[in-house]
Amino acid sequence: MRFPYVIVGAGLAGITMAERIASQMNEKVLIIEKRSHIGGNVYDSYDKEGILIHNYGPHTFHTNDKEVFDYICGFTEWNDYQHRVLSYVDGNFVPLPISLETINRLYNMNLSEDEMEDFIASRRIPIDEIKTSEDVVLSQGGRDIYEKFFKYFTIKQWGVSPAELDRTVISRIPFRKNRDTRYFTDQYQGNPKYGYTAMCQKMLDHPNIKIMLNTDYKEVIGDIAYDKLIYTGPIDYYFDNCYGELLYRSIRFQFETHDCESYQPVTSTRYPLDYDYTRITEFKKMTGQKHPKTTILKEFPCFGGEPYYPYPTQEWKALAERYRELARKEENVIFLGRLAQYKYYDMDDVIREALDVFEKLKS
Ligand SMILES: Cc1cc2nc3c(=O)[nH]c(=O)nc-3n(C[C@H](O)[C@H](O)[C@H](O)COP(=O)(O)OP(=O)(O)OC[C@H]3O[C@@H](n4cnc5c(N)ncnc54)[C@H](O)[C@@H]3O)c2cc1C
Repeated sequence: MRFPYVIVGAGLAGITMAERIASQMNEKVLIIEKRSHIGGNVYDSYDKEGILIHNYGPHTFHTNDKEVFDYICGFTEWNDYQHRVLSYVDGNFVPLPISLETINRLYNMNLSEDEMEDFIASRRIPIDEIKTSEDVVLSQGGRDIYEKFFKYFTIKQWGVSPAELDRTVISRIPFRKNRDTRYFTDQYQGNPKYGYTAMCQKMLDHPNIKIMLNTDYKEVIGDIAYDKLIYTGPIDYYFDNCYGELLYRSIRFQFETHDCESYQPVTSTRYPLDYDYTRITEFKKMTGQKHPKTTILKEFPCFGGEPYYPYPTQEWKALAERYRELARKEENVIFLGRLAQYKYYDMDDVIREALDVFEKLKS
């Protein structure tokens, strides 16, 4: 078998590259994917009640990159959606990110924008040298904000306190002085009208693209002739973990279907202080689906399991850089996407990167 291009991984990075190569260069592409489906982590499907769920955690598309948005609009229509998040603090739900609305509800006040600035300033703790993420939050928002929104949430999310994470992990607390309670303020946001999997299927709908599912690329790559490999799997795995395995934070997902039309007031509620899960997502609120029942997802961060979030400390960034040095020496291999770069990317970042890599490849 001979293919000019072989792509490892049918996530958004691999799919975008395949679509571009097939449609713009008119070349044949083989995608090898170890899971039983396309889409990578943006895969969605209907559960046994017929409710559309995001199998690997809730995804909302948002971007200010018009070129990326125009590109992806070629494969889907969008539902009209603004993501909203409430955080459960002291027995009440308050909006996130922290805004004037959050502060007023949290402290039962009615501050104006200017008064909020003074209020926050009065809470700040001066710190001479900002070394950790704890220092960042204490110096920008004070102890109460730190404990209510950041300290215990970070411990749940990453397994360590912000005091043990360097300052780049929480480099800034986004305080909104206005009453805008949307989670994202990007110019373009929404979810694909018929879901992410349908969007990915449309991107792959080209006679030049062949897909091999349920296959780890190492099982077959020796039998396939190709000119260029585009690799979107884990970078350490490509090099047989020669320097050791990179650390990821994973999530245990617990889906529950409830016999009611609505479970919670907004799509996403966060639990920085209570319970073992970090957040609850109600899918119907993001997809707009009508159904007499509703499916929710509780997320329990953990180690082991599927690799979701690269671990944000210097130790692991340094190890990833050693692998990247090896990657730079690989001929005819492009390392692309969140696993091959060991970097957290939003969907628009990954599409942007793939479009840029494709432009270089073409020239
Ligand atoms: C819980 C969660 C929520 C998120 N929410 C958002 C959001 O709201 N908005 C947003 O913009 N982004 C969000 N993201 C980020 C988004 O998921 C990523 O930007 C995107 O999925 C990255 O695509 P990718 O192709 O780089 O990686 P992936 O989607 O991981 O694709 C890589 C593919 O490679 C395959 N693969 C790996 N190893 C092998 C192998 N050995 N052989 C063959 N195949 C292999 C994998 O099975 C996978 O399908 C979220 C991520 C997570 C984890």
